[in-house]
Amino acid sequence: MNKKLVNIFTNNTNISLDTKTELTKKLSERGYAVTSEFSKDAELIICIGGDGALLKAIHSCDFPQCPVIGINTGHLGFFQEVRPEDLDRFINDYENHQYSIQELNTVMATITTKDGHKYDHVGLNEIVIEGRPSYTIHLYISIDDMPIEKFSGDGILIATPAGSTAYNYSLGGSIVDPRIKLLQVTPIAPMNTTAYRSFTSSILLPAELSLGVVPEKQYENRIAIINDGIETIYTDVTDIKVKMSDTCVKLLRLKDYDFWNKVKTKFL
Ligand code: NAP
Ligand code: MN
Repeated sequence: MNKKLVNIFTNNTNISLDTKTELTKKLSERGYAVTSEFSKDAELIICIGGDGALLKAIHSCDFPQCPVIGINTGHLGFFQEVRPEDLDRFINDYENHQYSIQELNTVMATITTKDGHKYDHVGLNEIVIEGRPSYTIHLYISIDDMPIEKFSGDGILIATPAGSTAYNYSLGGSIVDPRIKLLQVTPIAPMNTTAYRSFTSSILLPAELSLGVVPEKQYENRIAIINDGIETIYTDVTDIKVKMSDTCVKLLRLKDYDFWNKVKTKFL
């Protein structure tokens, strides 16, 4: 009989590596095969570290289909569900199906360049659009092809509900319960002068609408697209479309998980 397969990803802190050793031993004793290489046959992906480690693991697996759970050895650990001292309880709950699956929507940006090429970027937290090196960026913003505003400032951030508590929150955006399916468009240092007018608060978009972004024509402009902290720089961008993506991340949550309790313990 094939063994049940679990993938473990970890950052390189001592506590994460020790936790990995301990967890691997416990899972092997229960008959699991444990690997550090992503496999499509895995039934569970375990990420040891902070939120950053979970984001990194999800990107390195190209948004896996199987459930993902985080063990928090990092700083904040908003995605993370298990404390390193609770490994036995976690394994018992997992084997007894004492958990729920939190489906988190992702956001996708499609960048079109002057030569007609298209590039996709997916974020679990957010997509950020900024100028590089730092300059005032002017962006024509439309919602489902209806022109809305010419934004001037550092840039814009489009957050998923899962990402609403990350960079979005630091920018003054709202915390969104992930049971609500929406995208939040949050301005980054919007300018409001007699010369420039931009929205100063976040805009909430329903799941089915897309956001269009056209940078003002200045070909020396370089546009940074940052998905979950991963930055890619493009030149000659003619158009960017941002929408909720069909890709979901399935986070495994233990049975006493509650979103607002998590917010309370991590933010207040
Ligand atoms: P980082 O710069 O080390 O992380 C920034 C902080 O954001 C960390 O404390 C991280 O938690 C936390 N975080 C990540 N996702 C979160 C979420 N969904 N809800 C609440 N907090 C969250 O970079 P990183 O660890 O690789 O994470 C990448 C994320 O950093 C980006 O997606 C962006 O949202 C965020 N970021 C925030 C700011 C800001 O707040 N000014 C600026 C740039 C980027 P851990 O400590 O557990 O890793
Ligand atoms: Mn981090």
